[in-house]
Amino acid sequence: MKTKTAKRVPVYSLDLLKGIGAPRIEALRAAGFSTLRDLLFYLPKGHLDRATVTPIAQLAEGEHTIRAKVRTLTVPRFRRRVAIAQAVLEDDSGKVGALWFGRYDVKKRLAPGVELLLSGRVGHAKKGGLQFHNPDFEEIGGEAEGIATGGIIPVYPPIPGVGQNTLRRAMKQALEVSAGVVKEYLPPDAAKGTALPQALHDIHFAADTATLSRALPRWIFEEFFLYELAMALRRRAATRERGAGKIDVPPDVDRRIRARLPFSLTAAQERAVSEIRADLASGRPMNRLLQGDVGSGKTAVAFATMLAAVAAGGQAALLVPTETLAEQHCRTIDGWLKGSRTECVLLSGSLKAAARREALSQLADGSAHIAVGTHALIQPDVAFSNLFLAVVDEQHRFGVLQRAALAAKGERPHVLVMTATPIPRTLAITAFGDLDVTTLDELPPGRTPVTTRVVAAADLQPVWEDVRREIAAGRQAFLVYPLVDASDRIAAKSAIEMHEHLARDVFPDLAVGLLHGRLKTEEKVAAMDAFRANRTKILVSTVVIEVGVDVPNATVMIVGNAERFGLATLHQLRGRIGRSTHASTCILAAGDAGGDAMKRLRILEETQDGFRIAEEDLRMRGPGEFLGARQSGAPEFHLADLVRDAGVLVQARDSAFDLISRDPDLRRHPDLRKHLLARLGAKMGLAEIL
Ligand code: ADP
Ligand code: MG
Repeated sequence: MKTKTAKRVPVYSLDLLKGIGAPRIEALRAAGFSTLRDLLFYLPKGHLDRATVTPIAQLAEGEHTIRAKVRTLTVPRFRRRVAIAQAVLEDDSGKVGALWFGRYDVKKRLAPGVELLLSGRVGHAKKGGLQFHNPDFEEIGGEAEGIATGGIIPVYPPIPGVGQNTLRRAMKQALEVSAGVVKEYLPPDAAKGTALPQALHDIHFAADTATLSRALPRWIFEEFFLYELAMALRRRAATRERGAGKIDVPPDVDRRIRARLPFSLTAAQERAVSEIRADLASGRPMNRLLQGDVGSGKTAVAFATMLAAVAAGGQAALLVPTETLAEQHCRTIDGWLKGSRTECVLLSGSLKAAARREALSQLADGSAHIAVGTHALIQPDVAFSNLFLAVVDEQHRFGVLQRAALAAKGERPHVLVMTATPIPRTLAITAFGDLDVTTLDELPPGRTPVTTRVVAAADLQPVWEDVRREIAAGRQAFLVYPLVDASDRIAAKSAIEMHEHLARDVFPDLAVGLLHGRLKTEEKVAAMDAFRANRTKILVSTVVIEVGVDVPNATVMIVGNAERFGLATLHQLRGRIGRSTHASTCILAAGDAGGDAMKRLRILEETQDGFRIAEEDLRMRGPGEFLGARQSGAPEFHLADLVRDAGVLVQARDSAFDLISRDPDLRRHPDLRKHLLARLGAKMGLAEIL
């Protein structure tokens, strides 16, 4: 599409930055900044209040800034890439400790006698007394004086190779040079009466907290607004597309599909199937989210949909986050397809070259109808002869772009995304705002509620006896540990050590299996096979089993260091049991946990309602923690907070969708269009649709 490129606003190059140094300017370019204007819109993710200094004697738990001298600095150990530094700081009123993890710069920058402004979270130290935890600090009179001291200091999301003070210095200059000439791009009602240059200045370098609080609402709104504009555009593009393979399911095909399943569908699954079929028959590409608590039977719905696509002469692809899950889905689907001519192939990263070539050629020539795979499925060399349907399982593990990459393998295929993480409403409208939603609100029959207990890790003896009893009764047990081995930063009990301990000391007479992400694929498959076939009675694993593993005979789950998991993750884990008519028990062993962590875990004792758990998790830990780093489907907001600003989000969504309905290509809002493309074009795949 042609757009007007007349530039009314001068463009300032990064080379104008003084005192930054060529390598850092290169690093900025590498991070995607090409002009000073770009830099201006790299908003802080937070601020340090270095205007208000607390005397050490008056410190309490919470965020504080102190002005103090380093009295002692110790670097007790330097082990396995973990740097720990400890300092004692003092001012006229008293002394306080500070502790840093993984900060190599501390040792270099600090020495006894150095005077600092230091900001961060104060908490209780292990040995009693108060302590700063990983605080930020600046030397008084040091080179950053004025940039990082005095007033409200911005903290930017990290950019590789560019430190905070360099960024702050660059930002100051960018503001001086170009803030004055940046044109307002928000519509008047969205700009909330602020003047852009001032708003920019204040969000980066506010003189005091009052100024910052006046500047924030615009930026919070803007962050949501741009994101929702992108969502509205994506949704509009999807619903405007025509000519998707129209898939009808005649009664005889429907009968044959149902006959392949070993059970009849629940009412909720029936509803999902008919909503999906209406989409398939509409002649427009389907874009639907199927959400349902863990165990609600999403796989069967996906399977019925894939068979409909195959019966109509097309192919279907199922994208999943882990190899274990790909392997399991493939096995399930193969089982259901037994005796049929429909061919299913597996594509995963660890496939041998020859097998991969074979699978690729079958997909390309259409002799394979269904592909199940991990990220390997969205690699450039994977081609389909006729992809009608793309299904993404555990969608929260993938981003918008990965979903799009799979869909791009066909010509306007139908897209079905599935998630087992119950999503609080505010997150649902952000992360999946471009999708229609179907909810499976019913579990298949024959489920038994899971009894959940929170115990202290020290009291495991009775737990082992419970496990032994269940195994004697023919059942099996999962034991889940958070980390693969002890080299991870926090020395949690590792699955490997635990496996050794259990197999040797606790259950020497029983077969104990081990499953973790660092095993070779064959080893993982073998471990799952042995457990599925009830040859191993206990499976010790990391969270690789979190998503989708289905072994109904397992009725006990013990989660070690449970305090380190989010409630939503624990709920997912717990969904692995309670899948047969036998009663199931989930034991959450909390390691070194304070009262808050225990209180949080007790919610799982009270309820099995995934949505309630998700809401609690979101409320207590915030969206970042809730969605986790790996769960890249979630948008990242710098200043906006999905919990605190939920009301603003709804407003922003309404205005964004309203604006797009009035001006579908933003042609009448060229500045906004340009700004949106610059901010989110690449991240949200807007270039192709705007
Ligand atoms: P999830 O929604 O978590 O992906 P699955 O698709 O793995 O759930 O289904 C969980 C279990 O329920 C599987 O063992 C599956 O075979 C079984 N199942 C699914 N639908 C039904 C049904 N309608 N009746 C009986 N069992 C079912
Ligand atoms: Mg599943």
